[in-house]
Amino acid sequence: MSVQPVTQNAPQLAEQAVGALRAQLRGELIQPSDPRYDEARKVYNAMIDKRPALIARCVDVADVIAAVNFGRDNHLTVAVRGGSHNGPGLGTCDDGLVIDLSRMRGIRVDPSDKTVRVEGGCLWGDVDHATYPFGLAVPTGFLSTTGVGGLTLGGGTGYLARHYGLTIDNLLGVDMVLADGRFVTAGATENSDLFWAVRGGGGNFGVVTSFLFKGNPVQTVYGGPMFWPLEMAADLIRFWQDFILNAPDNINGWFGFVTIPPVPLFPESHHLEKMCVIVWCYTGPLAEAESVFEPLRKFGPPAIDYAGPLPLPALQSMFDALYPPGLQSYWCADFFNRYDDKAIELHIKYGSQLPTMLSTMHIYPINGAAGRVGRQDTAWSYRDANFAQVIVGVDPDPKNNERITEWAKNYWLALHPFSAGGGYVNMIMDEGEERVKAAYRDNYARLAQLKAKYDPNNFFHVNQNIKPEE
Ligand SMILES: Cc1cc2nc3c(=O)[nH]c(=O)nc-3n(C[C@H](O)[C@H](O)[C@H](O)COP(=O)(O)OP(=O)(O)OC[C@H]3O[C@@H](n4cnc5c(N)ncnc54)[C@H](O)[C@@H]3O)c2cc1C
Repeated sequence: MSVQPVTQNAPQLAEQAVGALRAQLRGELIQPSDPRYDEARKVYNAMIDKRPALIARCVDVADVIAAVNFGRDNHLTVAVRGGSHNGPGLGTCDDGLVIDLSRMRGIRVDPSDKTVRVEGGCLWGDVDHATYPFGLAVPTGFLSTTGVGGLTLGGGTGYLARHYGLTIDNLLGVDMVLADGRFVTAGATENSDLFWAVRGGGGNFGVVTSFLFKGNPVQTVYGGPMFWPLEMAADLIRFWQDFILNAPDNINGWFGFVTIPPVPLFPESHHLEKMCVIVWCYTGPLAEAESVFEPLRKFGPPAIDYAGPLPLPALQSMFDALYPPGLQSYWCADFFNRYDDKAIELHIKYGSQLPTMLSTMHIYPINGAAGRVGRQDTAWSYRDANFAQVIVGVDPDPKNNERITEWAKNYWLALHPFSAGGGYVNMIMDEGEERVKAAYRDNYARLAQLKAKYDPNNFFHVNQNIKPEE
């Protein structure tokens, strides 16, 4: 017998029941008739256009409990929204209830034990802002506008991954509301099976109302982008790959294909040129930075070199303005161990055909500290892979959706045979059960058991869904 979600679409919601929920919430309850509705239902990826029946903008744990109970008792499809950055739009749904955490943005840094308590709706820029004055940092992603909730629960790759691990490797505990409305905490000693599952298992297990992170001693780093002409791509990828696979943990640098925006920041001669980029982040002693980067600059002097000392939050927000909310985007992802000559050749073929100015391909190193965690220690399986690759077709104009999607899919198809098999759950689209299983490999069976324990009716199924074990 297969387990069906308890929810169904488009129920007839009694006004009385909605009124009762409204009365229970300290936050706002937004319905389609509300003038704020169209703004409230928007998510980061404009390709996603969903129309929930209700949006509950929770302000505290009590609101979340009320919303979960309401969704369950009224058989609604329920989506949980953190920063709303998810590529396939898994923070929203049609017809159902969105539990929107974007008003839950409190943060408390405890400098005495170097921990950071972060509410479930925070963005990473909120965290960087709060931790920087204390000389602390939590490993996050490459943009400051991404939500803490989705990024953390899926794993979290960023500039500090080689030095301090994935975001989940710095997670000490969570506060959660489960499908039955119970509030629980999970950490190394309490509900440790649940704690294992949320470190990579996404939003499958409940609503995380707050995260407790370890802060790491980082403040000013040496980093930023260096750009090389496309003609150097093959040699550059080989050089960068060998370098990063053998580099000390305190240096990270992701490789990408990009188009130089036509803005005064860049020399006019390079405007709209497709180029290779490596964006560096060195967290070692600043006095040694120039000598660390000397061989990199000697390899073939970059055509544009913007690497230098800067505050970590400045590096982590450097590309925010280039990728604002409201763009159309289509994501494809895979993990890789190594790129051989054939894979590099294919990269150059598709990388030189970026279909629009904002379309891009990035390869994020996940070796170093992130790679030394055991593949069964958290739900995030691909600890033995060296790279998380993402291809994103991006454009403001929906007319180009077919073009950007086709390019991304073709690029992915060409490289997939060289991959480690699965892709990072936070960077794939809604691609079906087999791709979710491929992302978790042998951790999937344990995740399905824990799903059966904590969410047996698959109430939380608007996510990269793990089906409860039958
Ligand atoms: C421009 C851009 C850059 C990115 N860069 C990176 C990067 O550098 N590194 C990286 O690892 N990822 C990156 N990502 C991917 C990102 O991790 C995912 O898109 C992630 O899902 C975003 O989380 P969110 O909270 O913003 O999204 P949402 O759309 O709000 O949520 C995503 C999923 O997480 C669940 N969820 C969110 N918050 C909670 C919560 N508190 N409790 C329970 N479930 C929750 C939702 O239900 C949903 O299933 C990037 C995405 C974008 C769009």
